[in-house]
Amino acid sequence: MHILVTNDDGVFAPGLQALAQALRDLGKVTVVAPDKNWSACGHAKTLTRPIRVEEVSLADGSPAFACDGAPSDCVALACLGMIEEKIDMVVSGINPNANLGHDITYSGTVTAAMEAIIWKLPGIAVSVDSPNGHEEPIDFSLAAHVGARVAKMTLEHTLPENVLLNVNVPYVGKDALKGIQVTRQGIRKYRDKLLRRADPHGKPYYWIGGDPPVGVPQAGTDAGALAEGYVSITPLTLDLTAYDHQETFTAWNFT
Ligand code: MN
Repeated sequence: MHILVTNDDGVFAPGLQALAQALRDLGKVTVVAPDKNWSACGHAKTLTRPIRVEEVSLADGSPAFACDGAPSDCVALACLGMIEEKIDMVVSGINPNANLGHDITYSGTVTAAMEAIIWKLPGIAVSVDSPNGHEEPIDFSLAAHVGARVAKMTLEHTLPENVLLNVNVPYVGKDALKGIQVTRQGIRKYRDKLLRRADPHGKPYYWIGGDPPVGVPQAGTDAGALAEGYVSITPLTLDLTAYDHQETFTAWNFT
C-alpha cells in the first residue's frame, strides 16, 4: 500500500506530519506538498510556468518533496510519474480549520483530494475544527487517528469512482468525541470585509479581511455534526450538475 500525503498549508505544517505518521501504520507514505501556504487556492493547475520540486526533511526527520505548485499540482505531478512507485490513495491534511459547506471549492485541502479523483484514486481530505486564534500548538492526534481509520476503511471497502471523502474532526479530546456521522454538504456564512488601504506610493490596494466564516449547524450536515461533537464524513463528487433543476431549464426552451 502506497499513500500520497499532501496538504495546502505547506510541507512543514505540523498537521501534515501528524497525518503522515498515522498513515505509516497502513503502508508506505510519500509526502509531496507545497513549499508555502496555499490555503483557499481552489482546484488549481499550474500551466504557465515550470514547477520546481526539492527534497526536504520534516521535523521528525522523515523525507518529503516540497513543490512550488498548488496542492492539486502536487497530486498531479506525483501521479504523472514524478513519483515512480504506483500510488494507491491520496490523503490531504490535516488542515487546522474545518472545511465545511462552500469551503470545499476554495479549500486546497479538499481540492487536492479532488485531484485524486481525476487520477481515479481514492481521495480523502482531513481537517480539524480547531478554534480560531488558537495560540497553543494544535493537537492533531485525534484527527490523525480518525484520518488513518477512515483511510483504512476506504482501502477495505474501496471508494466508488468519482467520489472523495471530506472528513472534519471536532477539536475535542478522544473521550469527548460522540462518534462519526455521514453527512451532506452544509452552509457556510462568510463574514468577509473588503479592506482598502494605500501603499507607500499612495496607490490603493485591497485585502479580503473580516471575521472567519461560521457554519450553519443544521442536522445532517457537516457543520451540524461538528457542532454536536461528531466527526463529519461527507462523500463528495466532482459531478456538480444541479439535477433537480435540469427540467426547469429544459422548460425554458432555449432557442
Ligand atoms: Mn489550509
